[in-house]
Amino acid sequence: MTAASELIAAHQPAWSEPDTLREVLDRLRWLPPLVEAEDCACLVEELAAVARGEGVVLQAGDCAELFTDSAPDRIRAKAAQLHELGGRLRRTGRAPVVVGRLAGQYAKPRSRQTEAGDDGVEIPVYLGDAVNDRAPTGTARRPDPQRLLAAYAHTSRGLRTLASGPATYTSHEALLLNYERALLRPDPVLGGVFASSAHTVWIGERTRDPGGAHVEFAAEITNPVGVKIGPDATPADVVALVARLAENGAPGRLSLVVRMGVDRIGERLPLIVQALGEHADRVVWLSDPMHGNTVRSAQGLKTRVLRRMTDEIERFCAVLRLHGVHPGGLHLEITPDGVIECVDTGADLATGPDPCRYTSACDPRLNPHQAVALVDRFAEVLATG
Ligand code: PEP
Ligand code: MN
Repeated sequence: MTAASELIAAHQPAWSEPDTLREVLDRLRWLPPLVEAEDCACLVEELAAVARGEGVVLQAGDCAELFTDSAPDRIRAKAAQLHELGGRLRRTGRAPVVVGRLAGQYAKPRSRQTEAGDDGVEIPVYLGDAVNDRAPTGTARRPDPQRLLAAYAHTSRGLRTLASGPATYTSHEALLLNYERALLRPDPVLGGVFASSAHTVWIGERTRDPGGAHVEFAAEITNPVGVKIGPDATPADVVALVARLAENGAPGRLSLVVRMGVDRIGERLPLIVQALGEHADRVVWLSDPMHGNTVRSAQGLKTRVLRRMTDEIERFCAVLRLHGVHPGGLHLEITPDGVIECVDTGADLATGPDPCRYTSACDPRLNPHQAVALVDRFAEVLATG
């Protein structure tokens, strides 16, 4: 077997200053765990109940958090929104499990590596606050290893606010493998090691190669893990992922986050569920109705149409139910702010989202009304099933 360090880790930043990176990682290795192993183990239990059809998950938050989002008032506003939305799932007759995409969602994989800066010169793209600065200049966009220490500090600050009242589980994409590996800690509850950066982490669509370094990392940890499954995931890919990440673990240890897009889910998802056979019941099935439905508005802003997202959720539920599998919940990009980043109908694409009310650091998020609309639609489908 190939040693973990030899596997290809896709989408890693070209860090400047390798010596600084080494020092930063050494410091991270000695810092206290950000979350407790006991809490990660509790989440596995709650997710096992979801896999059995007794619970329902709401996992949501920003596409990319900014470090400034760790301020107590921001964290409290986001946690309040999560609990409000989670509460709306009670009418399904199942226990809501609320997981924030927060306190650590600071790194982004991007489809393009450069973009035009303010003066028209190509500069590296923004890769999340843990890597570079959002300002559109070449200097700001240099990947800076010191930002990994700042990511730790801001996560810790966010978690302190959550611990002081509005508790939720936390999650982020496990993209920066040297950061995640530096925060591995012994797991006294389940044995082995756990990722102490968040209660659960997910592997993104771009890094879910069953033979790649991200999946290897996910296989090593005891935390619950998610894997995004896009329209080009083959049944063989998903069978390999489940064999690697779920078969020996507790039910609920693996969530498959389906993000196929409304046009392809009806054709692709049945093939995957059928290929998994009886193993389909061991995983938690989440619908991310956002990432397969991203389009550009007439003015060129990235957006998503609410109607297409509710349609994808309905198809997700219909396919799973046809195969006797529980549609376990939603994975959404949301904000408590009154933004207009997503639009309600296809007709709105002509005018598009409002650039003055578009503040996302990365992908378009649902505003509070839009988030309620999606969650309510999902709850309604589940309650009437
Ligand atoms: C995301 O969740 O922001 C993301 C990049 O998703 P995906 O990996 O599904 O494209
Ligand atoms: Mn996103």
